[in-house]
Order: sequence, then C-alpha cells, then structure tokens
Amino acid sequence: MKTPIPLPSAILQEDSLIRHLLANERAIMRPFPDSLEQRYWNALQERSASMIRNVYYIFILVYLVLGFITFPTVYFISEPVNRAHDLLLWLLAYTNGMICLGVLPIMAHVPKMLRHYNQILPVLTFLGVFGTCLCTMLFHQPQLAQQGSYLVIFVYMLAYFMSGMPPRTMLLTCALAGLTPLPLFMFLNIQIDPVMYFYAVILSNALGFLLAYLNTSRDRISFLQGRLLELDRLQSRAMSEELIRLSREDSVTGLANRRYLNETFSQEWERAQRSGEPLSVIFVDIDHFKAYNDTYGHLQGDDALTQVANVLKSHLQRTGDLAARYGGEEFIMLMPNTPPEGAKRVADKILAAVDRLNITHHGSHTAKHITVSIGVSTWQPLKQRQMNANRLIDQADSAVYQAKAAGRHCVRVFESERVE
Ligand code: GH3
Ligand code: MG
Ligand code: MG
Repeated sequence: MKTPIPLPSAILQEDSLIRHLLANERAIMRPFPDSLEQRYWNALQERSASMIRNVYYIFILVYLVLGFITFPTVYFISEPVNRAHDLLLWLLAYTNGMICLGVLPIMAHVPKMLRHYNQILPVLTFLGVFGTCLCTMLFHQPQLAQQGSYLVIFVYMLAYFMSGMPPRTMLLTCALAGLTPLPLFMFLNIQIDPVMYFYAVILSNALGFLLAYLNTSRDRISFLQGRLLELDRLQSRAMSEELIRLSREDSVTGLANRRYLNETFSQEWERAQRSGEPLSVIFVDIDHFKAYNDTYGHLQGDDALTQVANVLKSHLQRTGDLAARYGGEEFIMLMPNTPPEGAKRVADKILAAVDRLNITHHGSHTAKHITVSIGVSTWQPLKQRQMNANRLIDQADSAVYQAKAAGRHCVRVFESERVE
C-alpha cells in the first residue's frame, strides 16, 4: 500500500525542522518534537523485527550450538557431588533462554503482538537476564559461576544492541533484572562472589548502556538524514500527482476535462467490447445559458456551471462512472455496465436535482430558474456490432437536440435510428 502523502506545507515544515536538528548536535539526543520521535522508535523497532524475521533461524542455530558446548562443560567441570545440581540449573537457564528467544520470531510475525513490542521486549529481556543471573550464580562449581557470568554479559549485549529499545529503558530493565536475584540470595543465605557479580551485572550494564547511547546518537542522525530523503521523495510524488490531477481536471468545475474523458472513454469502450456489457452516455446541456451570462455576468455564470457540475458529481454511483465537462455549458456522464433504463433513471434524477438548486434565471423562456436538457444514449455491444465512441456521443447529442426541440427541461433517450 502506498503511504499517504502529507500536505505540502507539512512536508516543508518537517523538512526545515529536521535541517535545524541536524545543524544542532545537542538536539540529537533530546526527544525530537511532534511525531518524529515516535517515528524514530517505530522505525528502529521495525528494523529489529525485520532482522528477527530474517535471521531468527541463525539465532536458533547459535543457541543450539551454545547448548552443545555448555552442556558438556557443565557436565565435565562439575564435580560428581555438584553435578546433578549444576546440570539442573543449566537446564533451567537454557530453557528460560529458549523460551525468551522463541517468543521473538513469533512476535515478529504476529502484527497484534508486534504492536506491543514496547512492552513485550522489556519483559523478555527481564526474564532472560534474571533467569541467566539467577541460575549461573547458583552453580555450586565456582568455575561454572564465572563462565556463567560471560553468558550474562552476552545477554546484556543482545538486549542493548539488538532490541531497538531506548537505552534508558534497557538500562532500567537490565539493572532491575540483574539486581532482583540479590535479595533472594540474601534470603536463602547463598554466598555469591561479589567481584564477579559486580563485573557481570554492574560493569557490563554500564558499558552496554554507554555503547548503546553512542550508537543511538549515530542512529538518530542517520534516521533524520533518511527521513529528509523520504520527504524529498514524498514531495516529488505529491508534485507529480498534483500535475496529473491538474492535467485531468477542468479548472472551473473540478470535473474531469475533455482530455481525460476521451482517455477513459476509449478504455471503457474496449472493456465493453470485451465484456459485452452496455455502455451509457448522459449528455447534459444547460438551457439558455448564453442568456444567463448576458443577464448575470460571466463570473456568476461560472458559479452556476460549478453548481450544476456538483449535481453531476453527486450522482456518480459506481467507481467506474465518470462526470466530465465536455465543453462550454455541456457535460457528459459516462456509465459503464449501465442499460438505457438505468441511465434514464439517473438522468431524471439529475434533471430534478438541478431544479432543486433553484438558481434564479430571469432570462430563461423555460422556467424561472436554471434548467437542463438531457440526452441519453447506450451502446449494447452484443446487439450493435458496427459502432464507435464518437457516434455514441453524437447520438446522445442528438437526443439533447430532440429534448431542446420538445421545449427543453426534459430527458430524451436515443433509440437506434429513432428518438422517442
Ligand atoms: P440552449 O438552451 O439552446 O442550450 O441555449 P444556450 O444559450 O445554453 O446555448 P448556446 O450554445 O447558445 O450558448 C452556450 C453559452 O455558454 C455561451 C457562453 O456564453 C456560455 N459558456 C460557455 N463556456 C462558459 C464558461 O466557461 N463560463 C461561463 N460563464 N459561460 C460559458
Ligand atoms: Mg450547448
Ligand atoms: Mg445550452
């Protein structure tokens, strides 16, 4: 799906805001104004989620290898008297890590979960760090506890660098997860090596935070530069869409212009030819419009034209229908897959709706207000093989002529070589 284009003024405003931020180094790490900050974190999280989606099987592979390495390590390093206890802890830590890592690819694939990335990621990080800290510090074999602390550092680095979360949130989560086991150790009267704990939890956390902070500042700069490029692209897209719109639109009434009508007409003609479905044309001509201009002036004439055009617009029923200004005070409605009866019904409604506008017209010989004469013609490809688009319009035009001849302010349907 195409991203909606912001208004040109909004693009310019954001562009100058970003240029200002980029020129001011101190502003980079402060929250960006408006929705820019949100956009930054969304982009970062989307990047992390897409990385998880693309390479999670490598994570799983690495995790399996880690299991193959650490299991024998625990088994052989642990003395027989500690072995059962240490292996159980290994199993707990390994399963806990597997669950935390396993949720990631599920989250990255399920949009409903991905919407809660901000909440899920800190919880997973907390559980991952907490479980690893708790289990590794409880190993009876001292060498294992030390090796376990490397694992804690590894988990921290994953959290800081791959989560796509603000470093401050990660600092809070990781510190909390690292420190929560402490009261538990005290309560259970378990001795832990304070130096090792300091290195594993406090120092690695501080280091992780510092590096993540520096990384974030670089990330924020490249995000702003990327956004500038995107704004540039959006601006050119907006300009080219505006040019296309202008090239298709009649400047007075806002309806499709004759050129766009011709384009659409030939497409619909070919479609009708293929499908055999009827194609109808409604030709609307304002009565005594020259007199209206002469009486009320050209500007008021333009206003009346626009009001009638809006009536046509409001009678477009299907997406394929098109209302266009054919020229002067004449309009055409193109109605694919519409039989004559359907087109006549719409024409009658248009005639009545123009009456309801009740635009005073003292110069008219037909009524006290502006009226229209309408001609309807339909091509039924299955019945009329010899036909072309111009002839269909000519037939609608001659139906208008008949309506004028019948006293104006009425609808006439062209029927084969006879007009009813
Ligand atoms: P009839 O009832 O037979 O259709 O008479 P009419 O006066 O509507 O038809 P005619 O073809 O004689 O005149 C059409 C008028 O439409 C002539 C011109 O003054 C007016 N007209 C054409 N284009 C515009 C426009 O863009 N703005 C305005 N205000 N008037 C226009
Ligand atoms: Mg006319
Ligand atoms: Mg006219």
